[in-house]
Amino acid sequence: MAIVAEIEATLLGTGVGIPHSGRAQAGLVLKAEKPLLFDCGAGVLLRLAEAEVSPLEIGSVLLTHLHLDHVSDLLPLAKARWLLGERRMAVYGPEGTEGWFEQVRSLYPYLEELDVSVTAVAPGDEFALSGFKIRAGEAVHSLPALGYRIESGERAIVYSGDTEPAPSMRALAEGADLLIHECSFPEPYVVTNHSTPKWLGENLRDAGVKRIVLTHLYPQTIGREAEMVRDVRAALGDEARVEVGRDLQRIEI
Ligand SMILES: [Zn+2]
Repeated sequence: MAIVAEIEATLLGTGVGIPHSGRAQAGLVLKAEKPLLFDCGAGVLLRLAEAEVSPLEIGSVLLTHLHLDHVSDLLPLAKARWLLGERRMAVYGPEGTEGWFEQVRSLYPYLEELDVSVTAVAPGDEFALSGFKIRAGEAVHSLPALGYRIESGERAIVYSGDTEPAPSMRALAEGADLLIHECSFPEPYVVTNHSTPKWLGENLRDAGVKRIVLTHLYPQTIGREAEMVRDVRAALGDEARVEVGRDLQRIEI
């Protein structure tokens, strides 16, 4: 019997705050019953159009954290929806998201017409949204940050946002069909608040993740992609399914 995909994931942006060709800033859309957007950095609004997802379909956005490379296109998305006749939108994000949104929006008084509900999410929170079951986990970054585990039927996808490889992220990713994890720099960079390949692989040892896609790639990763995959596999074995993501890559699980 053919296995029917339950979730379609499209990587909208696999880049970071420093621009480089072919990689928009952070964004991911998951589709089961309805599309759900995770992060909305610069370039993501255009990538949504390229992925043939209308702004009208994006009623809810989950933010991992409030750094600009994850939120720059959020107001433009809200405005695009408004131009298309839709005023409502729901935004979920870590503590501080509501105050941040109201402050940014207050600079554009005409956007006060938007009816945006903002919900603060804490690590460990579980909720249902757009047909998905969602659990938030604590990411280790330079400000409050979340990863999300998203389940539909038997399938589970985990999106790390920006984080160091951390026990909380490993727990969130346990047994997932697909882990979309940041891997900002290749070896032998030594960093905090972000991930590098060997460190990430070590953190995922025996976590039972079926497929790992690396995202949030700094320009320093250019030309080092095969090496990064090899270095993640160092702790996981040669059979581990690991790849470097690319914008508009579509993955069905
Ligand atoms: Zn980032």
